[in-house]
Amino acid sequence: MAKTTLIDKLAILSDAAKYDASCASSGSTRRDSMATKGIGSTEGSGICHAYAPDGRCISLLKILMTNFCVYDCVYCVNRSSSNVPRARFSVEEVVTLTMEFYKRNYIEGLFLSSGIIRSSDYTMEEMVRIARKLRLEENFAGYIHLKTIPDASPALIEEAGLFADRLSINIELPTDLTLEALAPEKNPRDIRRSMGHLRAKIEEHKGEAKDRRKPRRFSPGGQSTQMIVGADDSDDAAVLMRSENLYGNFHLKRVYYSAFSPIPDGSSRLPLAKPPLMREHRLYQADWLMRFYGFERGEIVSGGTDGMLDLAIDPKLAWALKNRDRFPVDVNRADREALLRVPGFGTRAVNRILSTRRHRTLRLDDVARLCQSVDKVRPFVTALDWSPGGTTDEEALRQRFLPKTRAASAQMELF
Ligand code: SF4
Repeated sequence: MAKTTLIDKLAILSDAAKYDASCASSGSTRRDSMATKGIGSTEGSGICHAYAPDGRCISLLKILMTNFCVYDCVYCVNRSSSNVPRARFSVEEVVTLTMEFYKRNYIEGLFLSSGIIRSSDYTMEEMVRIARKLRLEENFAGYIHLKTIPDASPALIEEAGLFADRLSINIELPTDLTLEALAPEKNPRDIRRSMGHLRAKIEEHKGEAKDRRKPRRFSPGGQSTQMIVGADDSDDAAVLMRSENLYGNFHLKRVYYSAFSPIPDGSSRLPLAKPPLMREHRLYQADWLMRFYGFERGEIVSGGTDGMLDLAIDPKLAWALKNRDRFPVDVNRADREALLRVPGFGTRAVNRILSTRRHRTLRLDDVARLCQSVDKVRPFVTALDWSPGGTTDEEALRQRFLPKTRAASAQMELF
């Protein structure tokens, strides 16, 4: 049998990593790829873009250490019963690839996940060896995101946190019941225990100086998780309830939502079609509203109806249309909380309104300069020279804001 080359492994293990949404992936097509020189290619293999904890967009080498796995999670293409080509990097290979890509400025960091080989501890140990070698032997100062194995020993996870900028543990599915049904070897209580442990360690190390001569702070970018959406029949209310719980109990930096994609030879327990991508997008918007706009989950989506977010309009606009009695909001007098609830106002626009109105009374033209879409804002605010007049009914407003074209519907609406 032909020997698997490093390039073959990179192709298999970067492709296998694309199902992880914890950093948004996009292929690169650099013409000066190293493919011509023999080691790897950035074209579709392993380079993704993600936002670092400080908000910068960075490119990462996103790979699995191996896609062999002793677990058999039904929704996963790398499950033990799956018939996919398998590969495994050695510790040295991951370190070499990372350093070679890093020195050539192709990447600014590494996102490393793995299937479980032999045991959780053995796998975690190998991942920690990679991070340790990069930091201590190669003096790698780039970003490292490690996906940890929930039931690995706490000592290993702690060591991982000393070398990684961010750690994550996948919660996988919105409810314990479906996780136990679709991932029989996983224990939701172990996942939560590990998240709790990480939270305690992160908080213990907070406040330490960022002096590079001192030991690195523990996972300075905090912890995150990923939830697969559409692999089970959980509605959006259940998904957001899980997120609310995770943010509240474990102080996660991010919950990533990943729309389920059907996998080859998938189980009959899985849906045949993927959920609309817009569902994933609406969940991100709802998540944003809970974290930065002061919305309660129950305001955004209730379990009472069908428990699903409106796919046609963004959740903030949907809330505003259902709560017409809360509008119009006076841009010259309303408090920050009320302004944040106006469709079309993002946090930046609200900050600019609050600081500008200290010096003058705002007109609609001022509002137009301070936000991105005055058309969206107009029915919901009053200004010195503007009032939306009589109440326009909910359905008429909804029709006005429905996307006119398919392209428009795919756009990220601005809050
Ligand atoms: S443990 Fe991870 S890699 Fe293994 S089957 Fe489950 S989801 Fe896939």
